[in-house]
Amino acid sequence: MSNRYAALARQLAVMLCDEERTAVAAAPRTFLEGHGIRVTPLSDLPSSELCACDGVFFPGPIPNIAYASTPGSRRESFTLVHEFGHYLVRRNDEVLSALHDLDDDAGRIAEERVCHAFAGQILVPDQVVTQVLEGKHPEAHHLRQLVAASSGSLEACAVRLAEHLPANGYVVIANPVHRCIGFASPSPTAAYRWGRHTLLPRQHPLCVLTPPDGFAARVRSSGRPGRG
Ligand SMILES: [Zn+2]
Repeated sequence: MSNRYAALARQLAVMLCDEERTAVAAAPRTFLEGHGIRVTPLSDLPSSELCACDGVFFPGPIPNIAYASTPGSRRESFTLVHEFGHYLVRRNDEVLSALHDLDDDAGRIAEERVCHAFAGQILVPDQVVTQVLEGKHPEAHHLRQLVAASSGSLEACAVRLAEHLPANGYVVIANPVHRCIGFASPSPTAAYRWGRHTLLPRQHPLCVLTPPDGFAARVRSSGRPGRG
């Protein structure tokens, strides 16, 4: 996650007090409805170009979030907090101004990334990342520890860990069964992205791991992605 998007997301996060950040992470729907935001679960969310996740935010006349319902899942929590980010963007003149300085398409993409970063910061708080890392650089086991210690999904935790890589690199969730990348989050300074479903050479180190449950995580520091 770029430092720029993460910094704008932090401006949204500080609009909430500690108790509010904890409450929205613990029970997003309850929190949002308590703040006058209408929340509408849908069993079949129509595809939308408005949002990069499983929900959509309508600012008015009554703020309304519609989302694909997967009750109790970390994915659903991420979607709701992401949509809450859109709500907060419209109440923060500095963030709005930064996004309006970009052209329409770039501004829309940037807002999506800011809302993703905001959801990550809320669901995987800084203090939990700090506790898990204990002053060390990220290693693969930290990813599972972070999932256990937070409300974030595996991917959200990978994004937060990648922010702490000491060099250009990636936190990768590999799928050795299909010999491909499940998800890869670059460090803030990494110049290249590693796309989902990127096929890996048969002897790639990520393919010869013996994960206990089909998915394995490995931290890859330095080097250009996708070259086996
Ligand atoms: Zn969005």
